[in-house]
This record gives sequence, structure tokens and C-alpha cells, in this order.
Amino acid sequence: MIVVMKVGAPEDEIARVSDEFSQWGLSPEKIVGKHKVVIGLVGDTATLDPLQLQEISPWIEQVLRVERPYKRASREYRHGEPSEVWIETPAGKVGFGEHQPVAIIAGPCSVENEVMIVETAQRVKAAGAKFLRGGAYKPRTSPYSFQGHGESALGLLAAAREASGLGIITEVMDTADVEKVAEVADVLQVGARNMHNFALLKKVGAQSKPVLLKRGMSATIDEWLMAAEYVLAAGNPNVVLCERGIRTFDSKYARNTLDLSVIPILRSLTHLPIVIDPSHGTGWWEYVPAMAMAALAAGTDGLMIEVHPNPPKALSDGPQSLTPERFERLVGELATIGKAIGRWPQPALALA
Ligand code: PEP
Ligand code: MN
Repeated sequence: MIVVMKVGAPEDEIARVSDEFSQWGLSPEKIVGKHKVVIGLVGDTATLDPLQLQEISPWIEQVLRVERPYKRASREYRHGEPSEVWIETPAGKVGFGEHQPVAIIAGPCSVENEVMIVETAQRVKAAGAKFLRGGAYKPRTSPYSFQGHGESALGLLAAAREASGLGIITEVMDTADVEKVAEVADVLQVGARNMHNFALLKKVGAQSKPVLLKRGMSATIDEWLMAAEYVLAAGNPNVVLCERGIRTFDSKYARNTLDLSVIPILRSLTHLPIVIDPSHGTGWWEYVPAMAMAALAAGTDGLMIEVHPNPPKALSDGPQSLTPERFERLVGELATIGKAIGRWPQPALALA
């Protein structure tokens, strides 16, 4: 349920109303919007009568029921206002959100060695990326494939962060590794294969770093939003959704089917920011630029793109990785669309 307070509702009245809901055994969550304060109510609200709730205070404008299975993730929960996820990077704060410029995450599938990760970081930063991606722990279909360098790769990501000023996004696969990964990462990635790992979702929800939640390869949109709900319900409001392609009947020419229709659909269902990953979405670097541009035109808040200095030699996902040169060219093309739709970052102001 959501309780919409009237414009100008006094702070102590909002606190009093929230206290009263707490006494009823509900969990009130105050959401400060641009114009109004909304109190989200989660708990056993089935027997409550919205009209009766309205009687609690003359400052309550409206009480609405959230009919969807996900509550905190629903668009209604913030009374239609999009949420923004702000991330501290060494180069300043970067936001993911509907009213923010598109944020680009780029880097290799796996962290292979210090030279490659630092150089890739510097190249993608120069081209306009705000975050470096790179896996230390890799979820691989075969146990005989490269599994990632693990903890030592976290150290290399820290070095790349230092050298480039980029924020770091890296995957955590195991609940036991969450703290260790969160020491280095600015954003924790939960991969497609772990979207249904509820223990992991609860664990990343109980810590403070933002979470990039990839869509499971066969997950419905509702299942994906319910996974996000796990993170939100555990106390972490900073969730970014990432579409990375789904399994359909045809995988002959593309590794997955990149579902760009989720952009307008998610906009209507949830307030959470959206990132599109055209690299895993298509599986082939040749198709990445067209899908990245389409995603930007369709209104994505971020793009995640795999970039490797020498794709034929990559330890994972070489065929879908752009070279730094191709990435630079793509960012140039994205800029044209980004500027036309008002979603391109302003160049930093030159200091006089
Ligand atoms: C990745 O980002 O390298 C990755 C393994 O992604 P996904 O979980 O989408 O397959
Ligand atoms: Mn990959």
C-alpha cells in the first residue's frame, strides 16, 4: 500500500503517521519525491481499508493499494517517480536514472592480467565510459572453462580503478564472497545465472553497495522484478536492472535474443533504472553497435559493453567483445543519438 501525503505535510506529522503504521506491525518506508512525500507500506495490508487509513491524519491525501506481486519495485510505490541510483566513483558521482545522461559501462568479460585491465580501463575512460566492468569470478557453463582469477583479480580491479578513475562493476557469485567483492566494487553485479539465487539476493540486499541485477536467461519480467524485490526488501534501495538477452527458439545467429521491449515495459512497471547489455544480448561484436544505438534511442539509462584489447585471445567472450578502437567509434555514434534525445553527458566545464 502507499500513503500519499499532501504537499507541505509537516515532518513531525509524517513521523507520527509512520510510527502509527509501525505499531500496526507494518513496515513504513518514507520516500521523498520532488513534490510529495509518499509512505510505502509493506506487510499484511490485505485486511486494511484504505479509507480508514486515510482518517489517521488530515495530511494524508490518498491511500492506494499496490496490486502487483512486487511492491517496493513497483512504479506505484514511488507514486510514478523514477528512482535514481547514484554511485561514488573516483572521478565523481554518476547516476543511473530516467532523467540522467546515459551511463556507459565497458570492459572485458574477465580480468586477465594487470596490463590488460589497466590499459582497457584507460582506453574506455578516454572514450567516455564511466564504469569499468570485468569479472574476477566467472559463471561458466563448463567447469573446464576459465573460471576467473578470483581474489587476485579483485586487486587488479582496484589498481585499474586507481589508474583510470572509473567506478568498478564486477560480479559476485557466492554469498561468502559478498564482503570481499564489495570492498573493491562500486557496484555488485548479480549475473543472469544467479538471478534466482535468493540467498545471494538477500545478502547483497543487506549491504550498502548498489546492485546491478541481470535478467535470468529464461526469466519473465515479473520474476526479474521479484528478484529485485528481494534486494529492496533486504534494505538496499539501489538496484539497477540489466537486460542481457533471453533464450528463445533461435540461437543460430545470435547467442540470445536481446529483449529491447523491456525498456518501455519496465518504465511502466517499475521505478528502477535500466541498463542494456548488447554484448551478451547478441554474442557477436558485429551486432553490438546497432543494438546499443537502438537501446539508447529506446530510452535505456545505461549500456554495458564488453571491450577487450585483443578479442581473439580473450579468455572468455572474445567473439562478442569490441576492440577499444571499435568502442571509441561506437561512442561517437551513440553521442549523436544521445544528444538528440537529451541523454548525453555534458562535457566537463573547462576550468578558467
Ligand atoms: C558477464 O557479464 O560477463 C556475464 C557472465 O553476464 P550474464 O550473467 O549476463 O551471462
Ligand atoms: Mn561475458
